[in-house]
Amino acid sequence: MITSTTKIYALIGDPVEHSVSPLMHNRCFKELKLNCVYVAFRVRKEFLKEAMLGIKYLGISGANITIPHKVEVMKYLDEIDEVAKAIGAVNTVVNKNGRLIGYNTDGIGAVRSLKEVVKDLRGKKVTLIGAGGAARAISFCLLKEGACLRIVNRTYEKAVELAELLSQTCAVRPEVYKLDENELGKALEDSEILINSTSVGMYPLADKSPVPQKLLRSDLIVFDIVYNPLKTKLLREAEEVGATTIEGYNMLVYQAVESFKLWTGIEPPVELMKQTVLEHLK
Ligand code: NAP
Repeated sequence: MITSTTKIYALIGDPVEHSVSPLMHNRCFKELKLNCVYVAFRVRKEFLKEAMLGIKYLGISGANITIPHKVEVMKYLDEIDEVAKAIGAVNTVVNKNGRLIGYNTDGIGAVRSLKEVVKDLRGKKVTLIGAGGAARAISFCLLKEGACLRIVNRTYEKAVELAELLSQTCAVRPEVYKLDENELGKALEDSEILINSTSVGMYPLADKSPVPQKLLRSDLIVFDIVYNPLKTKLLREAEEVGATTIEGYNMLVYQAVESFKLWTGIEPPVELMKQTVLEHLK
């Protein structure tokens, strides 16, 4: 029941129609009997400032920020958490008594997904493919966990740029490789974990994998952050060689779990969130 004291949470992005976040959060609010509601707003780039003023002055309690606003939104916040600052992007906003505070939960979401399989990431050799927005968040949080990182990207210069940024914030410089069979082979040789954070494997590139199957091994943990399709070509081929696999929807769920905690202080029912996402994506 929506009442005069219902707390409102919002998704700000463009497009937003495909998003599973409203379903996930509203189901959790209902389950926990919280007087809260989550709604999606499609906001064009040119109106982001006005939308954020709306959040602030309408007293909307919090928001998720998604494509294409994750970087731009930082201009309109009163405070930015250290992790989000280092990553250079915000995906969660908390309205604390009229002050908008920005956070980034993408990297923590990825780390929590991995930790369901590997309890301690300290010293683990991780090959991360990609150097875009998601890779930035994941690489920062992996280094904070003490992982030993190799970054592999199609555009080599972007991987170098990311490594440089990480060396400034984390005082560790990851190794950098170009995304071709030979270089990827070198990075993977003694890696224990492989993460794909590129969009290769996602519709409409669903028949593609960023890794030739011959480079996959049964002792690898393979995590693909692409969640549409649920089982990417990379994950199917990894399963065929007996590798342990982690599907991208886990990260989607855990970044939402962390946002929910920032807004309410409560750990939401994770299994309910997973079930909601799986129903939606299937
Ligand atoms: P982004 O900033 O646009 O970065 C895209 C990355 O993919 C870059 O490293 C790019 O390499 C690489 N790439 C794109 N097309 C490629 C191709 N044909 N061959 C090789 N590399 C290619 O995107 P993003 O925000 O990081 O998102 C990346 C993927 O992660 C998307 O599929 C997104 O849906 C998914 N994602 C999932 C979650 C989750 O919760 N599971 C969260 C965030 C993102 P170049 O530098 O060479 O262009």
